[in-house]
Parts: sequence; C-alpha cells; structure tokens
Amino acid sequence: MKTITTLVLSLFLIGCTGDTSSRESLTVFTNVNVIPMDSEQVLMDQTVIIDGDRIVDVIPSSEITVPASAMFIDGTDKYLMPGLAEMHGHVPPTNPGPNAPEYFNKEYVESTLFLYVSAGITTVRGMLGYEGQLSLKDSVNSGAYIGPNLYLAGPSFNGNSISSPEEARERVIQQHEEGWDLLKIHPGVSLEEYDAMVEAADEVGITFGGHVPAGVGVIHAIESGQITIDHVDGYVSYLSQFEDQEMEEKLDELIRLTKEHNVWIVPTMALWETIIGAADYETMRTYDELKYIPKGVKQNYFDFAENPQTGYTIGDPAEQAQLRSRILGEMNKAGVKILMGTDAPQLFSVPGFSIHRELPHMKAAGMSNYEILLSGTKNVGEYFAEKDQFGTVAVGQRADLILLNANPLEDLSVIKEHDGVMVQGRWYSREIIVQKLKEIETYYSE
Ligand SMILES: [Zn+2]
Repeated sequence: MKTITTLVLSLFLIGCTGDTSSRESLTVFTNVNVIPMDSEQVLMDQTVIIDGDRIVDVIPSSEITVPASAMFIDGTDKYLMPGLAEMHGHVPPTNPGPNAPEYFNKEYVESTLFLYVSAGITTVRGMLGYEGQLSLKDSVNSGAYIGPNLYLAGPSFNGNSISSPEEARERVIQQHEEGWDLLKIHPGVSLEEYDAMVEAADEVGITFGGHVPAGVGVIHAIESGQITIDHVDGYVSYLSQFEDQEMEEKLDELIRLTKEHNVWIVPTMALWETIIGAADYETMRTYDELKYIPKGVKQNYFDFAENPQTGYTIGDPAEQAQLRSRILGEMNKAGVKILMGTDAPQLFSVPGFSIHRELPHMKAAGMSNYEILLSGTKNVGEYFAEKDQFGTVAVGQRADLILLNANPLEDLSVIKEHDGVMVQGRWYSREIIVQKLKEIETYYSE
C-alpha cells in the first residue's frame, strides 16, 4: 500500500494541476453567503478574494469584476464561515522514543494533523509540548504537511517535572526562550511552585493555562491570571465542598471572578463526561470515525470504557455531568469567554470529529448556535490577537475558511458536511478531503 507520506505528495500534485489552488495565485469565492462572525448576520451574495494567506476583499458580487486569471470557487447558495479551532488539542510526538507504542509513527502525526483539517479545524492550540514539536509548525506552514495553524504549549508543568520553585522559574525562562506559545499546567504543582511560575511568566511575558492543581485551587488560579482554565474540573472540585444555597453563592462568586480576571474557559464537555463515567459508552464504541485512528489507540478507548472511573469522578457521575452543564451555561450567560475544545485525541475524541461531538453538549448547556460558533472563531482570534489576525471573515484576516451547503447559524450539524476547507489560503475541496480520509481508513484497517 501507499504510505500516507506519498499520499500527501500525490495530493499536492493534484493541487498543482487540477481544480485546486496553489497558495500563490488569487482564489475567489463567488456569489457566496458570508457568515462573517463579527456579529450575528449573513452577508448575502458576496465575492471573497484570497491572496496568499490573507482575505483581501469581501464585497457584494454586483460591485466587482474579478480578474480572469484567478481560481474560482462557485459559492452559489453556499455559506462561507471562518474555520473552527480546537483549543485543547494534541498532536502525537514526532520523536516518541524507544518505549513508545508502535503506532506512534510519522503516519500518525500526519493523519492527526489532516483529520483536524478534514473536519473544518483550521487552528489547534496544542496542549502538551515535547522536544522537537515546534518544528511541526514549520512543516505545516511550508505545506509539507496538511494541517491546521498550530499554537503550542511547552512540555508540562506537573508534580513530576517540577520539584521546587526555582525549577519552575527556570523552566518558564527556558520555554519562553525556546519559543513555545504558552505554558501547560497539570495537576501536582505545589502552591509555591505555581506562584514562582506565575511570577516568572509575567516577567518574561508568556501565558499559562490548563488544569488547576489541587494545591493551588481555582480561586487562586483565577486571581493569578491563568489565561485558560480547561475542563472546568477545578470549578467542580471547589463547588463540591458546598451544598444548596451556599453552593449557588459560591458558583456566582466564581463566575464573577472568572469574568473580572478575563480568564477563558475551555470546557471539553464531551470528554469529561467520558472521563467521569457519565457517558454512553455503548454508542461511543460504534463511532464511525474510530476507523481513522490506530488500532492501539482504539483499544485504549475500549479498555477504558470497560471500567470508566477516574480520579476526576466526584460523587454520582450523572449529577456531576449536570453540574458541569449548569456551570457552563451560567458562565456563558454571564459573558465569560468560552473557547471550543475537546482534548483530542483523548478517549473517543478523534481529532476534528470530536468537535462535532462537543457542539451538542455546548448547546445542551444553553449556548446559542451563534455563541457556540463564536467560541471556535472570533473568540479564538481575540485570544491569539498578538500572534495573528483570524477568526472572522474580513479583509486582512488569515484565510482560514469553511465552505458550507447550508447556514450553520440555523443548524450546526451542517458543518460536518462541508464543501471544502481553506487553511492559510490553501484550498482543500470536499473531494480531496474524502479521498484522503479513505486513504487513512485503508492505512489503519491493515
Ligand atoms: Zn489535554
């Protein structure tokens, strides 16, 4: 069989000779309805022009004649929205070491990056760095791999990697110098180590996000300016100390503090239901997208589903899931900034596909379709405002786009059935994506 590496190459050859664009030429979406995501509106019958990796024009089709030399994508009766983001994602290691499972190979890295794009994910915030990972950004940006824009957290701060405040401090300075985009916090960091990390991070100018270590507590993490609190578990463990009216008051106070300190929330609702033992494991075993991942990874998922209990389960799993949903709903109502994320490829969260499993959970928590889309588009652009401009369909924005056959503001599920995805101005049509998915499926079926 062909390896995925050669498939990627052949894909690019198709791109050069067929109906897809190389990035150097102008690409024009004609007569398309634009969901700009700067506000809740649809701009009907627009022409959107892409030059290189930028959107250079968004204009009513009646007002422009486009150059004949451009590549045209007919957008009649279609909708163009900004690409989505996985704000708590992972990419397998490129140099996994001698003791890693066999499936940690180059093909796994390549297919993971592609799976994100295949589902309309054009930006991934990688939440666990490892040596050599930063070079992956170059591989994607140069077009050697088909992948999303990557922003990467460095190797984790946790109970094993940090044993003193001094060590925490040194690690911050080192990761800042190496060029990581943020610091990743895991459980096990002591209060003193955390405070030393915060102080050093503020000095050098790098953000930190992730879990809330038990010794730190959610209130201290919020007040220290942790940029994202992921998984909401820190909120749940704090609130579980209280009951009834007192818990309600503590919840209000937490939400007020979160908003006041501009902390962003990456809820990862679907994964956490899986992790705490509140998910429908029978249905999850039948997820169609499991055919796109290594058998060994799938087996890990199935083994977990046999005994789905972890240290994150507090009391009755169903009640905990309900509380999580309420917390997200109340945060959203209060105007706390939410970011879309699923922790792929954690348990049953197949990269890209897992976002579409997450959306119904956000909806169930009371978020509107527009608010859910914001969490994966405009909010992400705001979060990364110092790195680049993206997250809306407007002039000057990075050309990360999804072309759809129906209006996602009315029905989010139409995003799965998209008609093509653009990353940094590179266009991947539905046909190309379907073909490559088929190749990944074949690779993992053998
Ligand atoms: Zn994670």
